[in-house]
Amino acid sequence: MTAEKVRAVVLRAIPFGETSAIVTLLTREAGKVRGLAKGAWRPKSKFDAALDLLSVCQVLVHRRSSGSLDLLTEAFLEHRFRVGDSQPAVAAGLYLAELFDAVTVDADPQPALFDLAASAVRMLSRPRPGQSSAAETSRLDPQTVAMVLVHTELGILQQLGQFPALHSCAECGASLGDARTAFGMLSGGGLCQRCRRGKRAVVSVSPPALALLRNLAGNGFAQTLSNCDAMGEVRAIMNTLLSNLLGYRLKTSRWLSTTFAPPREKTR
Ligand SMILES: [Zn+2]
Repeated sequence: MTAEKVRAVVLRAIPFGETSAIVTLLTREAGKVRGLAKGAWRPKSKFDAALDLLSVCQVLVHRRSSGSLDLLTEAFLEHRFRVGDSQPAVAAGLYLAELFDAVTVDADPQPALFDLAASAVRMLSRPRPGQSSAAETSRLDPQTVAMVLVHTELGILQQLGQFPALHSCAECGASLGDARTAFGMLSGGGLCQRCRRGKRAVVSVSPPALALLRNLAGNGFAQTLSNCDAMGEVRAIMNTLLSNLLGYRLKTSRWLSTTFAPPREKTR
């Protein structure tokens, strides 16, 4: 039995016996790992909060022969998923845990996917400097949560080689411009007028939604975005893209639809 220290994000933890847990980890070094953490849910567990859902942690994994569960013997918390009473952030976190679980397989290391997951946990739990009251620090702007979510989803699609064409036609490479654009859910993104003919599963994407998608695909989006009116439309596009890719709809995506309101007039 060999021991390996890995960095991980906790994607799932289910009870095992009275106080133990079977924990699904997205690790940087070893891909997805499922392991038994004995006594994880004892009142004074040595794991403390390190194996809570969406904790970013360092874990000591004892690999066992095929057929039996790996053993998790030590875990140190690096960063906790701490979003207070922000319901959008909770929904986004649960959704991302399910999504990362769905797009990864055991023992196939994809460091970039781990980095995306860890970065999403950090962004969603980001404390607001200068605000001291507990109520303020725990309240995350739903718009920011929605941006973090789409940014992370686009990053996942990039890593899977499924990034949608946003600037040039997915079929012929012609520039798409900034006008209303046909978006082929099965053809890999934007389509020029010529290529869209005869295609199935094509939706029409508004100029603001296209601009928002382009923005969220890059880094540093939070600083550059002031207009998120098209977020409802973008959310619907992401839901369709991902459910086509997975072949089913994530359970937690229904939560997102109820949590993030449809597009409405800007009030500021
Ligand atoms: Zn084309």
